[in-house]
Amino acid sequence: MSRIFYQYCPLCGSDKISHALNAVDYTVSESSFEIWHCAHCTGRFTQNIPDESEIGAFYKSEEYISHTETKEGLVNRLYHSARKITLRSKQNWVKSAAKLKEGSLLDIGAGTGAFAHFMQQTGWQVTCIEPDEGARANAETLYKLKALPPEAFFGPEPAQFDVVTMWHVMEHVHNLHGYVEQIKKC
Ligand SMILES: [Zn+2]
Repeated sequence: MSRIFYQYCPLCGSDKISHALNAVDYTVSESSFEIWHCAHCTGRFTQNIPDESEIGAFYKSEEYISHTETKEGLVNRLYHSARKITLRSKQNWVKSAAKLKEGSLLDIGAGTGAFAHFMQQTGWQVTCIEPDEGARANAETLYKLKALPPEAFFGPEPAQFDVVTMWHVMEHVHNLHGYVEQIKKC
């Protein structure tokens, strides 16, 4: 397996990084991952991560709810109940931060499109970016949303949006600074 070993903190670029603890991936691989600590920015990150060509396998679980929408099991039913509340909170944050009641929104890491759909129902123009093919297919089936792969976002002149959202996304992307730079152009 191809792994990426960080010599520097992926958040701030400092070389003051060291091993902090180990964490087991109980959901899919049952393998152990090292969590490293940055003494400069206090950020923590997974060390020796699978590269972009292999990371997809770690999300291939029937229980990975943000890609599958499964309602089986107590935890997943609780997730759906909590999400009804958080969708409304997120919508309120977006409207107050943008000072807009309606507008255009780019949701990066849209999963199955629940948030984008919620915004669309209240009059927002939404565009979804999602790397997982299965999640994109679920977005289309569940919400009739056309989610695009990340390549569509990394064009030289990205479309302009009133709001860009990334919910629970930054900790999942390999190219964190690349995303931030591209978002600045939107
Ligand atoms: Zn750092």
